[in-house]
Amino acid sequence: MISFIKRIFSGLGISIVVFTLATITIWQWPFLTARLSQTRELQALMGLVPILPYVFYGAGSMIAFRYNQTGLVLSSFFLAFSYFLVTSRNIIPADMRIHMVQYLAFLLPINFVFFSFLNKRKVLSPKGFLYILLILVEVIFVALVIVISNDKPGWFSSHVMAPIPLKKWMYGISTEFNSVVFIFPVLKNSVLSLPVVMSCLFCFFTFFIRFLNTRSVIVNGFLGILVTAFAGIVLNGRPPAVMIYFAASGLILAITTIEVSFSMAYIDDLTGLPGRRSLNEALINLGGAYVIAMVDVDHFKKFNDTYGHETGDQVLKMIASHFSKLAGGAKSFRYGGEEFTAIFKGKCVEDAMPHLEKFRKAVESFPFAVRGKDRPKQKKKGVEKRKTSALSAKTVRVTVSIGVSEPSKTDNSPDKVIKNADKALYRAKKAGRNRIMG
Ligand code: GH3
Ligand code: MG
Ligand code: MG
Repeated sequence: MISFIKRIFSGLGISIVVFTLATITIWQWPFLTARLSQTRELQALMGLVPILPYVFYGAGSMIAFRYNQTGLVLSSFFLAFSYFLVTSRNIIPADMRIHMVQYLAFLLPINFVFFSFLNKRKVLSPKGFLYILLILVEVIFVALVIVISNDKPGWFSSHVMAPIPLKKWMYGISTEFNSVVFIFPVLKNSVLSLPVVMSCLFCFFTFFIRFLNTRSVIVNGFLGILVTAFAGIVLNGRPPAVMIYFAASGLILAITTIEVSFSMAYIDDLTGLPGRRSLNEALINLGGAYVIAMVDVDHFKKFNDTYGHETGDQVLKMIASHFSKLAGGAKSFRYGGEEFTAIFKGKCVEDAMPHLEKFRKAVESFPFAVRGKDRPKQKKKGVEKRKTSALSAKTVRVTVSIGVSEPSKTDNSPDKVIKNADKALYRAKKAGRNRIMG
């Protein structure tokens, strides 16, 4: 339970801190403004606050663009546009703005779920353009619904030339959307109508499941950005709150983008373990007593040749998942290829052995399912076969060999300890594999 809470907080830490700071700022706003508007220079600085969200979204989207984080680029645009709509008092009449904010609050969570799946796809690619087009279609549709269906005099709504059936249809959509029952009386007159609440629940549910499954930086970031921006939209009409929550969401977006870029450099893409760069940094900072273990998969070349590279990758993932659970205060890394490294700080070989042995046994006893060559072609048969052969389906065992070493009087640098661990690994291979040697 404690580790579960820890996990949530470590992932969402930055979002929680920024959100809390934003809330305190809003709460103390009158005091802050009174303090800060004492001199002209400070007053001028305060005048910059409303453009802060644009600054953060701009900075965030530029970094995101550079790293092909399409989801974050599109989110920046969507949020900047939302902020513009929510704060554009002079441009859009109040009654229309209320409708727009309603739609915004409905569309934001749904779009975010969608955006969060768009990582690593280039913005300027046919698919990227397709996504941008999709957002444009949404915007145009909402604008049309609002402008055409608004029968109140004023602005240009009454002058819009549109066929009567279209006007009626649009009006129907608009009124239905806005008059759906409000769940709680408290929420009457707020933007939280039933469709909005439903879209929010859908979004939080999807993010939360993915958050529990993947722990990925990007999902945490999206959750934080969404909650903060949503607070801004819901508090539409209260200027400091809108401004500050949107700025905060922009800040979380920028930080998320940086974190994603950071994790690209330090985290191995396939296994999710820290990669070689992380290991090199950890080695530089080592001192005192420690143990280094080098792990190598046995006969992996043959495994790849028999079952294919993709199945080989699945094996590496499985091994990494066991390796990341290594106890005894170990930190695990993917050294490269099918080799892994663990560092036990402040431990001696004797301390580390039982944990490594536990890992070796876990890998050895893991029944790894591979697709047999006799896969039935007919779907029905396949289902039946899978039912009956869930256990007897073709499973293979994979084993690992491990070499362990610690600093000695002569070999006391991490480089030398790694070399000695490698030598021990070689001995383990020679002695018949699937074993640990010190
Ligand atoms: P040994 O028991 O002596 O370690 O035999 P081996 O075949 O595992 O030894 P070797 O180091 O020669 O082979 C390593 C193989 O690992 C070569 C390559 O095909 C495979 N490999 C390395 N990186 C990856 C990867 O990222 N994915 C997959 N699927 N295979 C990889
Ligand atoms: Mg190897
Ligand atoms: Mg190998």
